[in-house]
Amino acid sequence: MSNNQHWIQRDLAVVWHPCTQMKDHEWLPLIPLIRGEGPWLFDADGNRYLDAISSWWVNLFGHCHPRIIQALGDQLGLLEHTLLAGATHRPAIELAERLLARAPPGLTRCFYVDNGSAAVEAALKMSFHYWKNQGYPRKDHFVSLQNSYHGETLGALSVGGVGLYRDVYKPLFHPGFSVPVADLYERRDDEPIEHYTDRRFAVLEHLLVEKADQIAAVLVEPLVQCAGGMRMYPPHYLSRLRESCDRHGVHLIADECAVGMGRTGTFFACEQAGITPDILILAKGLTGGYLPLSALLVREFLYQAFYDDYRSHKAFLHSHSYTGNPLACRAALATLDLFDQEPVLENNRQLHKRLTQGLAPLRGHPHVADVRITGTIAAVELAQDGPRKLSYPAEERRGLEVFRYGLQHEAWLRPLGNVVYLMPPYVINAQETDTLCATVCAGIDFATRSG
Ligand SMILES: *Cc1c(COP(=O)(O)O)cnc(C)c1O
Repeated sequence: MSNNQHWIQRDLAVVWHPCTQMKDHEWLPLIPLIRGEGPWLFDADGNRYLDAISSWWVNLFGHCHPRIIQALGDQLGLLEHTLLAGATHRPAIELAERLLARAPPGLTRCFYVDNGSAAVEAALKMSFHYWKNQGYPRKDHFVSLQNSYHGETLGALSVGGVGLYRDVYKPLFHPGFSVPVADLYERRDDEPIEHYTDRRFAVLEHLLVEKADQIAAVLVEPLVQCAGGMRMYPPHYLSRLRESCDRHGVHLIADECAVGMGRTGTFFACEQAGITPDILILAKGLTGGYLPLSALLVREFLYQAFYDDYRSHKAFLHSHSYTGNPLACRAALATLDLFDQEPVLENNRQLHKRLTQGLAPLRGHPHVADVRITGTIAAVELAQDGPRKLSYPAEERRGLEVFRYGLQHEAWLRPLGNVVYLMPPYVINAQETDTLCATVCAGIDFATRSG
């Protein structure tokens, strides 16, 4: 028995994997990983895979980065964990200072949580609670965008729009409003982008005109709806949204769990629209992918609405055991150091160009309906009839075929249904990028060769 087989057997006897139909593993190999180095992952049999999806979008600077490891080692020798209520520590303070210094102007407070879904929950609670504290308890609904994703816990799922993850749990949700986003994939070629964006935005505007007195906040993933198939929309939508939320007295929550930390070309995606949300959420790559941590960057007026004598019962009593964990904060500080000390955004512009060139051969492919790219997120939409955007039935699992092809060719892809995407660690070099793109092109040929 190979080493891989040994671990697979032991795993399948006891582990229930996330986001997985476990029966698939009767025929789909599970990959037992032993170690990582830069953008590479190594399995128990010594095979290597290029981590093209940054281990679910969290790993920004590669695996086992010496500087992040050093920082974690130092912190481990000082203080591994303590609560953040009634106590504080240097990593939590410094991280708040440095995130707020980078953030769009007006964000002045940092509230820590320990993962993206929990951060979304905290933001929803904070927004609702703000309005209640201000004497508007009827503002108890949220607006989210169709095809959005905000995490897996019940509150986060109820503001999500990806049916695959949420539909079965619908009876458990708090009702809310869902409106179309200016998804560029759905735009007809003959309609100018700005016109299309305004037309799509009008639905949201209309909703706010009618129902703002019942609405606490609008929640969006700025620029790219990642889990919803890397669908992209223009910054103009966000500018319109900011203006409209201000006019109607509704909060704007920017969920930058996946798109923050330099992923879209700017440090925060919101910067491209020149807006400041009322709450900005960071998670995933915040620690470079080393430990779970999330943060809400919040405007001063929100903070002030909770600041009162204890007996007013206005305090935000939300907490998690690992809120602001010192090790996680230290990993995040080491990650920010890398942004400060290296020309990361400039390098990412080169990576953007390289990905654009590498995937160019897929434009015009009969089974490709779209090749799109924002920052270092590149996505290819597979389709039965590319030019007509006639998609493959989901049951055919074409994306999975590309995944299997990738595994045979040193590439770790994990398509979202019919969308094959690349979201590599920023440290991937030019040659690795070219090879990866060539593998994606060949994998798509392989997966679409019939039917
Ligand atoms: C991944 C993600 C979340 C959830 O974060 P977890 O840490 O996985 O709970 C929320 N929002 C967005 C936009 C995400 O991509």
